[in-house]
Amino acid sequence: MADTPTIFDRILDGEIPCLKVYEDDHVLAFLDIGPLSNGHTLVIPKQRKAMLHELSDEQAAALGRVLPRLCRAVMKATGAPAYNVLQNNGASAHQAVSHVHFHIIPKPSADDGTGTGLEMHWSPGSLKGDAGALLAQAIAAAI
Ligand code: AMP
Repeated sequence: MADTPTIFDRILDGEIPCLKVYEDDHVLAFLDIGPLSNGHTLVIPKQRKAMLHELSDEQAAALGRVLPRLCRAVMKATGAPAYNVLQNNGASAHQAVSHVHFHIIPKPSADDGTGTGLEMHWSPGSLKGDAGALLAQAIAAAI
């Protein structure tokens, strides 16, 4: 899936422009073209992988190293008191661009007309009986 150049690959290749806010050897960050709120920023690895679990440890570490710094910068620049970090994997999980990306989405304290940030529908279930313990064991064994 990641072999076909995506719009983010074309940005990395300089074929199409972006509003860049940060770049290093492994990571590029730029403003989302369809922001959910003022300051909505995308952070992408330069490694061309569609989903998070496909990244190398090196690329994952590079993303983790800069994400908090970028969140601080977005909050400082926008004045937003809160934010969501969103990372979608797969079309059914709302991933539209098949190149790993983290959204930093400021949550403004009031609707300032630039967007209200991420709106979520969250409907929690529950862990029943031994199922939770078995599931935790299965995941732990798969690492
Ligand atoms: P997702 O649904 O998680 O795959 O999000 C893809 C995001 O990429 C959306 O928020 C789009 O607005 C954004 N996007 C698509 N094309 C561009 C572009 N050329 N420059 C900046 N952001 C883009």
